[in-house]
Order: sequence, then C-alpha cells, then structure tokens
Amino acid sequence: MASHIVGYPRMGPKRELKFALESFWDKKSSAEDLKKVAADLRSSIWKQMSGAGIKYIPSNTFSYYDQVLDTTSMLGAVPPRYNWTGGEIGYDTYFSMARGNASVPAMEMTKWFDTNYHFIVPELGPDVKFSYASHKAVDEFKEAKALGVDTVPVLIGPVSYLLLSKPAKGVEKTFSLLSLLPKIIPIYKEVISELKAAGASWIQFDEPTLVLDLDSQQLQAFTAAYADLESTLSGLNVLIETYFADLTPEAYKTLIGLKGVTAYGLDLVRGTQTSDLVKKDFPKGKYLFAGVVDGRNIWANDLASSLSTLQALEAVVGKDKLVVSTSCSLLHTAVDLVNETKLDDEIKSWLAFAAQKVVEVNALAKALAGQKDEAFFSSNAAAQASRKSSPRVTNAAVQKAADALKGSDHRRATNVSARLDAQQKKLNLPILPTTTIGSFPQTVELRRVRREFKANKISEDDYVKAIEEEIKKVVNLQEELDIDVLVHGEPEASILQRNDMVEYFGEQLSGFAFTVNGWVQSYGSRCVKPPIIYGDVSRPKAMTVFWSSTAQSMTKRPMKGMLTGPVTILNWSFVRNDQPRFETCYQIALAIKDEVEDLEKAGINVIQIDEAALREGLPLRKSEHAFYLKWAVHSFRITNCGVKDTTQIHTHMCYSNFNDIIHSIIDMDADVITIENSRSDEKLLSVFREGVKYGAGIGPGVYDIHSPRIPSTEEIADRINKMLAVLETNILWVNPDCGLKTRKYEEVKPALNNMVAAAKQLRTKL
Ligand code: GLN
Ligand code: ZN
Repeated sequence: MASHIVGYPRMGPKRELKFALESFWDKKSSAEDLKKVAADLRSSIWKQMSGAGIKYIPSNTFSYYDQVLDTTSMLGAVPPRYNWTGGEIGYDTYFSMARGNASVPAMEMTKWFDTNYHFIVPELGPDVKFSYASHKAVDEFKEAKALGVDTVPVLIGPVSYLLLSKPAKGVEKTFSLLSLLPKIIPIYKEVISELKAAGASWIQFDEPTLVLDLDSQQLQAFTAAYADLESTLSGLNVLIETYFADLTPEAYKTLIGLKGVTAYGLDLVRGTQTSDLVKKDFPKGKYLFAGVVDGRNIWANDLASSLSTLQALEAVVGKDKLVVSTSCSLLHTAVDLVNETKLDDEIKSWLAFAAQKVVEVNALAKALAGQKDEAFFSSNAAAQASRKSSPRVTNAAVQKAADALKGSDHRRATNVSARLDAQQKKLNLPILPTTTIGSFPQTVELRRVRREFKANKISEDDYVKAIEEEIKKVVNLQEELDIDVLVHGEPEASILQRNDMVEYFGEQLSGFAFTVNGWVQSYGSRCVKPPIIYGDVSRPKAMTVFWSSTAQSMTKRPMKGMLTGPVTILNWSFVRNDQPRFETCYQIALAIKDEVEDLEKAGINVIQIDEAALREGLPLRKSEHAFYLKWAVHSFRITNCGVKDTTQIHTHMCYSNFNDIIHSIIDMDADVITIENSRSDEKLLSVFREGVKYGAGIGPGVYDIHSPRIPSTEEIADRINKMLAVLETNILWVNPDCGLKTRKYEEVKPALNNMVAAAKQLRTKL
C-alpha cells in the first residue's frame, strides 16, 4: 500500500511563513525567530503526512523563498554582483538574490510553467564556478529523520535546472546552458552521497521540463545526466517526477530509458494521454507514481473514478509497483479547508485543499490494497453527486446561452477604422490623446474608509459619499492636468491587485465562492487568494454602472468605464473541473457583455476591459496554443460585439512579451489597446518594425509605474518619438504602463504633468 506526495505548500495554513519572513526582512524579528517558525511548519507538515499514512513523504520542498533559488544556492551559482565570497550561503546572500539589497537589484523572476508561482531565474555563464554551497536538502532530510519521519529528499533535477536558467549578461546569444551539465553533476553527486550517508533510501528528482516541447539534443541531455549519476545513485531508489502536462512519446521514451532510475512520476490529471503511453509500454520492475489527485485545483477527488484508473494501471505495472500520488506539488493549491469558516457545508463538501488531498491519496492507496474505507468513499460519492445535481451549480438559461456561442463567431459589424472615425466624431480627441489605465493612488484615508465600511463602522451612505468625494478629487486632478480621456480612479476597489481585480467582479456575480484562508504562494512571501468558480456564472445586477455614471456626471470629458475581462477572471480563479475552461469563460463573457451594454446605455462612451492575464493562460505546449487563443479571443469579443460603432472599447495588458501572440491580440478587435512597454526596451515595438500592421489605437506605456522615479518631459517625448517611427500618428495614444494605485500623489502628479506636456509638445510638431 503505497502513497506519495510530490510536494507541499510552505506558507502554512494561516500564512505563518509570510509573516515571519516579512517581520525578519523589516528587522522586527531575528533569524532565530524565522528559523523557528520554518522548523515548526516543516515538522507539522511531516507529522501530518505521516499521521495520514503517507509512505513516501517529501523533504526539501520547504523553501524560504523559492525552490529554484535553493538549487542555485546548492550549486553555489551566485551571480558575481552579490559579492558572495564562498562557504555556506547565508540569509544575506540568499535574500539579496531574491529581493535585491540597497546596492544591487534582485535576480529576475518568472512564472513557473503555466502556474501562478514565480521562481528566481538562475543566471549562468561560462565562467560560473560551481560549489556545494547549501546543505539544505541534507539538513532537512536529517531534521525529519530526527522527528522520526523517513522522507524522500526532493531535488530539482540537473537538466530542468539548466533548461529553466538564462544565460548571463553578455553571452545571451552564444551560450549553451546545457554545456554546464558536466560542471553541475559533480555537485549533485556530492549531495546524493551525503543523502545516502544520512540514510536516505529514495530520492526524487523533479524534471518537469520533460513535458515541454523539447528537441532531441535536449532530450539527450537527460539521458547523459542520469547515465553520469548512475553509479552515485546506486543503492537508492530514484524517482523522476514530471508534471503539468503529458509527455510527448519521445520524452516518455527518454524517461523510461534513463539509467539508474527506478520510478516515474506522471501527472494523470493534466496529462490526459499519459495513461495510454503507460499502457503501451512500461518497463518491467519499475514503479509508477500515478498522479491522480489534482495539485492545481481545490476540488475533492472523484475517488471512485480515480480508483478505477489506478486499477487499470496496476494491471499494467504490477501490484506492488503502483504508487498513488498527487499530479504535482500541492504548492499550487490552498492549504487547509479546516480554516474556512465562511464557506457553507455544501460547498465545503465539494472541496479538498492540500491537507485533504493528502488524506485522499492515502484513501486511494488503501483501497487499492483492498482496505477500502467504505464510509470515506461513500461520503465522497455523495458529495460528487450533490455537486452534479445542485441547483447552485446549474443554471439552465446560462448553459443554453453559452452553448449557443460555440462554433459561432462574434464580431462588431463595422471594421475598426470605420469605428475609429465614428468614435472620433463623437469624442473629438486631439492626436496623441492622453489617458491613464484606471487606478489612482490609494491614500491612507481611502483605506480607512473601506476598512470601516467593511467592519460596519460607517454607514453605506457615508461610504458612498466618501468614495464620491474621492472620485471628484481624481476627476478634478485629471482636468487640471488636461488629460483627454479620464478614469474614476477605482477607489471602490483596489482593482490593481489581481485578488481584487477579480474579486470585485466575482463578488457580484453568481457562481463564485470566496475563501478566508485559501492562499496560494505567488512568489516569495506573496500569496494570492483566487476565487472559486463553482457554478454557472451570471450577473444578477449591474456592477459598475453606478460608479462610472457618477464619475461621468462630474465631467464633460469622456470617462472610461472599467471592467476586468472574462479571460482574466477565468485565469485568476480556481475553475470548475466539470466542464471545459472555455465554457466557463463564455459564461463570464456573457455576464461582462451585459455589463458593457448597461454602461453604454448609461452614457459611457469609452469602456476599458482589462485582459491582464490573457497571455498567462497560454498552454505549455505549442500544439495547444491555437485552440486556447481562439476561444480566449472569442470570449473577449463576445463582451463587446453588441455595442454601437461610436462606443470605444479599450483593453489593457500589463506585459509586453506578446510578440508571439500579436495576431491574436489584433484579432481581439479592440478599438484601443494600452500595454506595458517601458520596462522592456522596445521589445514591443520591434514587432511593428518587422512589418506587422496594426490599425487600431495603441498606447504603449510611456513610463514605468513600478518605480517611484519621475520621468522628464524630454524623456517621455523621446519615447513617443520612437513609437512614432513605427506606428501611425493617428493611432498612437499616450499613457503610463499600468494603473497608478501603488504610487503616491507626489510621484503621480509631476509624472502625468510631464506626460501631458510631452504629448502637447509633439502635437505642435506633427
Ligand atoms: N485598470 C486596472 C488599474 O489600473 C488595471 C490593473 C492591471 O492591469 N493589473 O488599476
Ligand atoms: Zn496593467
């Protein structure tokens, strides 16, 4: 009877690690305090898993910041600018790499596959001197052992580590990261030998890059790496863990051919074809770690269905060779349902967070071994059935409306250039019109008002009055600055943060539930709390019309309505697993469509529909991109296909690496897109330089709102000039990179003043 957990959330059920880290960084507590919180968390996780009966319990999946950075530390691959002088890497160097320090910025961070977890990207060049500089993996193994828990130490595998790295500055174009393999393998050997000496009998290498589109040279690197490690690994059981997608047949062949490996971990939730690969060909005598419990979602497992999958696999791999596991690390799900005080019992019965998933894995392993816990299985079956039939989940009218969208197309009747003409007649904007992205600074006063309203300390009337006053201030300021298209500043919701950007709308839509403690680590100490979409989505009543029309009544200038788009709401939520993502997305699109049309009726002529997360949802494998982009872009178009030509639809995206999806972005058919640009050194503009035609309005951000720095008029004018070299004058907009919520008024006022001055200066010259 064997069960395994790929990895476990580190933050703690109430984000204990977050608070300990932040207090340590603020120098409010000592390194000892931090160490104690971390050790307590690890110990309680190990004990919880061992108490639940899990056989293969992971260690070294804890991290003070990030597991890739931990590997960088293990290998001593500290970039020279951190002035590390050797020896064991301490907090100073570690957190400097993660977060920067007074004199050096942090290392780059990027998304971990298609999750919302972000890792610190290793920077490797031909000159790095590797050394065994963090004994964390061994220390944690020993720590668990001392607590009486025998664990499987987890390392990021050497090939995935290199494939996730980037070449150091100066050698970007020329350096082959995989050429470093022979240099890092010796460090891995040292670690493995120490783990063996400490009594480990299993070791897990996470090699998730095996699910990507790899060429034969990259696949060959896996073969070479494990052949090299084979003799050091002898005497250990070796698990190669993959997750997040199917393996291609070539990758699978490589995996099962690796020397010295005894077990393969496969994601059977996202990897829908994986079972077939196993059934066709599985090496005799090896273990299959079957990831049937979803690590990326919060739904209770359908135990009966998993059990039959497992039984079919057991027939192939052999009775004592099948291990029940999670599809990936539980890092990507919420921690413990026990702490959810606000969800009702019915919804709770449909859910399983990390702690509950551990119990599910064990129940499946027991059932497979003939010790089925009938009571547990039948209550699970009852919950599955109630979810299927609950009227809270199904709304026939919504289903029907969303069904009707499939296979059809939705576009505005008139083409974009004719629409822009019609809009210009109505809006009468100057060339190079100026605007902002939505939010204005959040003052202390504003935070207080929102907090007191939430705590019922002030009446709704007082709250509305306070928000109205804030909107008035923001409107007046924009008029003083002479901005052309205004925003209301989003004081009623802190929309800039992804939590709120989705939560604000989710709270007003049906089909959404919200947790109190359902936090998931995003990076370092940062966590997000995604809403749960459990049912068909509909919009009982208008969500933003009151605030937008109030704001519009305060000015003669056009006021932008401000909405979050369907794809972003979808990608930033825990979504249903009982229907395809695109169906849920279509339902949200219909709800947003109602809102767009109500805004139009209320006299709002410019409506911005933010799609900050459209690119994030791109599947890992290229072969799946086209399908995703098709329904995602379609969903966006559904929201605004019904508006008049004279209504101007904006969208906004906070990233600029969209060169590969530019045609889909054009296909969104927005009238104007505002987009981040200033941090990326014109990467964005290069696509237009290369000849892509863009006829809609476009506002590449002219300054970086992430920095307190105030850009000068000359600097902004210079940026605009560079854009004018590749884009037509009549389509260019002038705006910052993103919303201004995180900035202070002392920064925002002069920056916007210079932005408007730069636009005006250029207008006279054109
Ligand atoms: N309208 C939002 C704002 O300005 C956009 C936020 C975002 O793109 N992340 O705050
Ligand atoms: Zn943005």
